[in-house]
Amino acid sequence: MIKVVKFGGSSLANADQFRKVKDIIKSDADRRFVVPSAPGKRFSADTKVTDMLYACYNLAESDSDFDDALKAISDRYSEIINGLGLNLTLAAEFDQIRKDFAAHAGVEYAASRGEYLNGIVLAAYLGFEFLDSAEYVFFREDGTFDADKTNEALSSKLRGMKNAVIPGFYGSLPDGRVKTFSRGGSDITGSIVARAVQANLYENWTDVSGCLVTDPRIVDSPKVIDVITYRELRELAYMGFNVLHEDAIFPVRTAGIPINIKNTNAPKDPGTLIVESTSRKPAFTITGVAGKKGFTAINIEKDMMNAEIGFGRRILQAFEDNGINFEHMPSGIDTMTVVVHQSEFEQKEQTVLAEIRKLTNPDSIDISTDIALIAVVGRGMRSNRGVAAKIFGALDRASINVRMIDQGSSELNIIIGVSNNDFEDAINVIYHAFVQ
Ligand code: ASP
Repeated sequence: MIKVVKFGGSSLANADQFRKVKDIIKSDADRRFVVPSAPGKRFSADTKVTDMLYACYNLAESDSDFDDALKAISDRYSEIINGLGLNLTLAAEFDQIRKDFAAHAGVEYAASRGEYLNGIVLAAYLGFEFLDSAEYVFFREDGTFDADKTNEALSSKLRGMKNAVIPGFYGSLPDGRVKTFSRGGSDITGSIVARAVQANLYENWTDVSGCLVTDPRIVDSPKVIDVITYRELRELAYMGFNVLHEDAIFPVRTAGIPINIKNTNAPKDPGTLIVESTSRKPAFTITGVAGKKGFTAINIEKDMMNAEIGFGRRILQAFEDNGINFEHMPSGIDTMTVVVHQSEFEQKEQTVLAEIRKLTNPDSIDISTDIALIAVVGRGMRSNRGVAAKIFGALDRASINVRMIDQGSSELNIIIGVSNNDFEDAINVIYHAFVQ
């Protein structure tokens, strides 16, 4: 068995967290390849090392004095190194960084140093070999990630190794300059390494015991999802469900490697398993509930609309011509509703409406604003009758008016539109209808 383990910033924020990480790795010999983030926040008002690096480089770039800012970063690493009693100094690395910053080596190079240095510290602490990701993770000249070249280089290097620490978040361009993924990108590196070594499991260690059924800021202590499929995750992620970097799914999904979200502070908790498919029924019929506020619904009515070929296309054309994405499009016999982001629509509203009128000559156009969309997602909805009745019964009992319904043909999700003001209540009511 091979496991690739990625640790997020909060798991490596200080010496105590490093100790937990070492215990986790050493307790299972399968945990052979380790991908660290940069040190994160030690307490809620703290600053992540990555953000300190961005700020420090900003000073360097405008030729202001950045010595104190760089010293504060080196202090973060000294605190960890001394706290662990390691015989290690990063003085040479910081000298190089100071020179590179003064020479304006680039903001992505600057940001990547958080993971680079943390990788060196973690490798020394674990007694594993350190690999610089700039030599194994490649981007093309246009800045896009080069999956094939990376996979070749990484798999041939790692094949012969028992263990290694490969820092997250960055790689290099063809000319050798360092390039980073977007924020949170260490998740992607973990996934790439898992694919390269054909791991059996990609463990993503963070500070929560897995994905929660819904947002804990809305529902008090929601339950953890035990197993979720990639498709369910995608539906929920689209609605703001934020677990992993979106681009971290692809490499492991194509290689058939499951992801396990685990908690560094509670390593015995099973966490959430993310898989391609499963015979395991979700614990509560629904897998998750997520939503977003701020949508507008444009409702177009025309008698005999359904007999008019090309009607739908012409309506969508009015949106397309104005560069507006549509989110959903529930329709009736003589009505069609197009749901869009309010902020995107507002500025172009009159032009779009004029174009719809011109192209389709409707009987009426009605606009509802301040709509929140809620996605109720679950593979269990297919085989369970009465799911919709349960949702709408619960909303009705709470006197919440449903302004729109859209059920995807996959039977994997139901999208419900309510007023922005009812958003939090609706999520609570739906959650409690299924999760006891
Ligand atoms: N350290 C980087 C960030 O803060 C990347 C990561 O943690 O995944 O975005």
